[in-house]
Amino acid sequence: MSCPICKRASDQKYRPFCSNRCAEVDLGRWLTGAYAIPTDEPGTLDSPSDASAAPSTDEWATPGNTRLN
Ligand SMILES: [Zn+2]
Repeated sequence: MSCPICKRASDQKYRPFCSNRCAEVDLGRWLTGAYAIPTDEPGTLDSPSDASAAPSTDEWATPGNTRLN
């Protein structure tokens, strides 16, 4: 079995991924994909209630914004 992210050989510790990094990448894709379904609009960044509900996905929705801190 190979890593679904980078196609390298998967590590038993992080199966089916090769590393924790790829596992987090996949999780990030899953989260952003899950949030793309209900919102379905690019202009949802101006609704602060969404950001407080899911702070972990906020950095994916607004890259660079967290760098300012
Ligand atoms: Zn990988």
